[in-house]
Parts: sequence; C-alpha cells; structure tokens
Amino acid sequence: MGTRLFKNLTIATCDAQDTVLQEANLLVEDNHIAFIGQQLPMAEQIIDCSGCIAIPGLINGHHHLFQTLTRGLPVAQNVGLFAWLVNQYPIWAQLTPPMLYSSAQIGLAELLLSGCTTASDMFYLFPRQSGVKLDYVIQAAQELGIRLYAGRGSMSKGQSSGGLPPDEVIQGTDEILADTERLLSSYHEPEPAGMIRISVMPCSPFSVTDELMRDSLALARQERLLVQTHLAETLDEERYCLERFGKRPLAYLSELEWLGPDVSFAHGIHLDTAEIRLLGETGTGIVHCPSSNMRLASGIAPVVDLLAAGATVGVGVDGSASNDSGNLLLELRQALLVGRLRSGPTFSARSALALATSQGAKLLNRPEIGSLAVGKLADLAIFDLKRLEYAGAACHDPVAALLLCQPTPPRYVLVNGRVVVADGRLLTIDLERAVAEHNRLVIKLQESIAGAIA
Ligand SMILES: [Zn+2]
Repeated sequence: MGTRLFKNLTIATCDAQDTVLQEANLLVEDNHIAFIGQQLPMAEQIIDCSGCIAIPGLINGHHHLFQTLTRGLPVAQNVGLFAWLVNQYPIWAQLTPPMLYSSAQIGLAELLLSGCTTASDMFYLFPRQSGVKLDYVIQAAQELGIRLYAGRGSMSKGQSSGGLPPDEVIQGTDEILADTERLLSSYHEPEPAGMIRISVMPCSPFSVTDELMRDSLALARQERLLVQTHLAETLDEERYCLERFGKRPLAYLSELEWLGPDVSFAHGIHLDTAEIRLLGETGTGIVHCPSSNMRLASGIAPVVDLLAAGATVGVGVDGSASNDSGNLLLELRQALLVGRLRSGPTFSARSALALATSQGAKLLNRPEIGSLAVGKLADLAIFDLKRLEYAGAACHDPVAALLLCQPTPPRYVLVNGRVVVADGRLLTIDLERAVAEHNRLVIKLQESIAGAIA
C-alpha cells in the first residue's frame, strides 16, 4: 500500500492526555501510522486536508446487523423490548442466507460512512434448515474492508422451557459450541492486525440456558475470546430474573462467573450502586446503546457512574430494528445528550468520544486501535469541518464540534491502512446496487411472512 501523507489537519489523538494537534501531518505506511507531527515527511501520495480533523476510527461495541431487514417495522415501532422481540421472532424465522448477507452489507456500510472502522456484531438467529450462518456476515465485512468482531450469538431456551423465543429459532448447546469452534478455526485472526475475530455471545438470560451461559464462557476462556450478552436492559428482564432465578440479572450472571475484562454486557441500564461498584472492581465492560434504549423506552444507562467506578464503557448502535440508524457518530451525539440528562452538563464531548475510541479499544482489549499514535494500526476517519453543519463551531473547538453539531459523512476512512471511504463515498462496494438488493429482499421477507401466516 506504500506511504500516504494527510497534511494540514487537526488531529484528535484520543491518547491518555487527549492531545490535539493543529496544522499537523499524519503519515500512513502500509497498515500503520508511521509519523504524526509538524514536519513534512516524504510520501508516495500527499493529500491536503486543510480544515479537516482526523480522529481514531470509531469502535462500535454492539450490533445485530441482520435487523436492518426489520428497521422501522410497524409491529415493532411502539412496543417495549419483550413485545418488540415476540412480534419479530416469527419474522426473523424467515431469514435466508442472501438476506443475512445483504443486511450485513447495509449495516456495515452505514458504520463505515459514519467513521466506524471496527464493528462488533452479535448474530443469534439461526432458523432450522435455513442454511443461515455467521459466515455471511464475515463475508460482507471482508468485502467492505471493515474490522469485525463476529459474535457467534445463540439462543437455547425456547418458550417450552420458559424462554421468550419460539422453539423454532433455538439451537442445542452442542450444536452452538461446535459451530463456534468451526468459525474459530476458519476465520479468527488473533495477530495484532487481525481483521476478523470471533467472539462468543449467548443472547440473554431469557433466551439462553444456564448450561449454555456457563459453557460459552468456558470455551471463550479456553480460547482467549471475548464474551458478551445483553444485561440489565429492561425492567421486564429484571422481573424475569427475579421470578426464574430468585436474583437480579447481574447476580445471576456473576454467579456463572460472567465478570472481568473479557466480559461485556450490552445496555447495563438497571444497575444499583453495589452492582456498579462490582462492575468497576472487576473491570467488566458495558456497551451503552443510547438510541436503542430511548427507542424501546428501556431507560438511561448510568454511564458517568460506571466510568467513575472503573468499569469500561463502550458504545454501540445496537440493531437497526431498535435504532433505525447505524450511524456511530450520531450515536455518540445521543450518548452525549442523554448522558447529560442523566448525570448533568459536565459530561463532555471528549468523554463521549472516548466511548468509541479509548474505551472501545479497552473493551476489545485491543491497544493497537482507538488512538492515533506512531506504530498504531492506521484505522482513522477524517471529517471536513468546512461543511455547513460545523460553521462557527469548528473555529471554537473542532473536537467538540464533531459531536455537538449535526453528524456528517467522513471525507476519508482508512481501515488497516486501506482507504475504504474517499470524498464521502464508499469505495469497496456498489452501494446503490446493495440498497436496491436489500429493499428487494425486504419485500421478499414481507411476502414470506404473509405466506407463513396464511
Ligand atoms: Zn442488542
């Protein structure tokens, strides 16, 4: 890939000192950052970025890419989590391999076009005999050129065993673990610059058996993989855990040893003071999903308190069926605003940005990304602050402008040194064709639901 110099730009390094450089230059050599500073090193390609800002490529900590298929679905628009799930399970049960592939393309394209370079996805819906497998999500990520944590999600507790999902979409523990091992040996790249990593993601306490929660963690620890599940998202879930297990959600998971820096919980809203302290003491991660939490009226996560306690707090757009957008920069703005609503106006734009940079990297135990410094992987996004949306604000504080003002598409996005977005356009796939194909498949999904009901 050679050398490429981006010159005359503001650089928000998001390092431990939150260093911001003005009128600086950044040299990318192959897949890493080779120079940052005021000097002008030689390069094969030089790109003038006057009036632009570079930030570390953003890290999305939680997603369900397949849900792009049911974005804005009428029966899931005006209900809380449990009814939202129950109304969609039969529809998701019609999922086919082309639908999964297409939804992953769309969701990942949205992320890239909002400055995201690393995506974590939890895919947990494997209808019987459908041929649907996580490989289709991985294929889409490889083609788009985004770094992916492919979460092998799972559901093993159907309605007949007291779970929420219908039995037709659950799998057995052995089948789930065998498929996780297959994915691990086929795709997992543990080296520092690895583009695809497998993680283990049983879905939730109300759709997964104790046995699968325990065995998933054991497999992940044996293979040094990350684990994630949904936790403390709604009061429905809290009631479920109190009734079924006689304990609160975190007490249930901690009894199964789900605590530590390799563990993250999506949402983490309904947590009491002792639980926040426990998450902090154990360095457990929470992935904050503000838009989804507002969309489903689930509540507001105590992000400031969690950070103060020492917990790692990343951010995630969550699936598009509960967000309707996969824009991570917009999600940071939501995190900033709702964080203030919960904890007051001192929660800063820089603190919000950290959720998708330094905190996001910590969540993934990935020191090679999440900040801009010599030797780090060249995962970065460059935004043009000369645009209308930033007029005025960029003169005062270019870093805050990026979060306070209306989000815009990045001018450039680099992943592992490769330019995947230039002049605001995705270079790796034909986006217009992908959107048309996605809409065609959504109509097909609607027809198959009508057929299944008739
Ligand atoms: Zn989720």
